[in-house]
Amino acid sequence: MAKIIGANAARLEHLNDEVTMYVYEELIDGKKLTEIINETHENVKYLPGHQLPSNVIAIPDVVEAAKDADILVFVVPHQFIKRICSTLSGKIKSSAIALSLIKGFDCAEGGGIELISHIIADHLEVPCSVLMGANLANEVANEMFCETTIGCKNTTDGLLLRDIIQTNYFRVVVVDDTDTVEVCGALKNIVACGAGFADGLELGDNTKAAVIRLGLMEMVKFVQEFYPGGKLSTFLQSCGVADLITTCYGGRNRKVSEAFVKTGKPFEQLEDEMLNGQKLQGPITADEVNFMLNNRSMEDKFPLFTAVHRICTGSLQPTDFINCIKGHPEHN
Ligand code: 13P
Ligand code: CA
Repeated sequence: MAKIIGANAARLEHLNDEVTMYVYEELIDGKKLTEIINETHENVKYLPGHQLPSNVIAIPDVVEAAKDADILVFVVPHQFIKRICSTLSGKIKSSAIALSLIKGFDCAEGGGIELISHIIADHLEVPCSVLMGANLANEVANEMFCETTIGCKNTTDGLLLRDIIQTNYFRVVVVDDTDTVEVCGALKNIVACGAGFADGLELGDNTKAAVIRLGLMEMVKFVQEFYPGGKLSTFLQSCGVADLITTCYGGRNRKVSEAFVKTGKPFEQLEDEMLNGQKLQGPITADEVNFMLNNRSMEDKFPLFTAVHRICTGSLQPTDFINCIKGHPEHN
């Protein structure tokens, strides 16, 4: 995204060239990651082999990076968002607009879940749109054609956000059904864990397709129950069915979940071994969703989400996964 936004900011007249990028500081072979990025224009740890535009400046202090920005784009693992928002609160332009690319939820007080875009909007008192789609980072960086969905309620902001994101290989569709767009981006990570379990158990393509379809039906049901007014057509956008497919085939949640079944190692260990400092979203999202379903006695309406959660927490064996979805409410 830094590569795309940097190139668009430099290219387009109505956008200021400078793009500041908050980078969590770490030492790579004794040298600061921000210094490496600013000297070589390459994020050697998280996206090696790709050049970032020279107008993208890495900054280790989040307030420094955000304080003069007109558009704030959030791309951090969802477990860090509240801390970042409290740090930024009161320190950004009041006229700024935000865009969240974060695929996950947070737990709300009283046993529910909170959308990340709502957390950003509430803490920073700025409008927050979302971007979700079938956008595996390496493929986007390789400029391989894909689509994405922006959920934005304000037409003018939607066009501006499309300007900073769209390229000839990264095509944007803007819709106003923002909550559904965001919920799709978070829930598909739970389904991807299920797809990974099916792969780990070597259950074949038909079973995996059934897992994906039942997962999609639970995603639809979740929106109907908790975000009434969401449109079915949003599930046909890149944020819905396309992101679900790419994540269930090429995503990290699928890969680590397959390894979880095959090696029996805990998720935290596999995350360390396989993801080079990146964070997994699926098991935490399954936990947050379960917290809410359990509180409302609704686990039986979402057997796939529930089984994935129980497998991730060790209270169900992966071999029992399919038994939990054989009697799915979708079959009645
Ligand atoms: P993973 O986090 O499972 O890699 O998902 C990638 C993704 O969201 C693709 O759009
Ligand atoms: Ca410019």
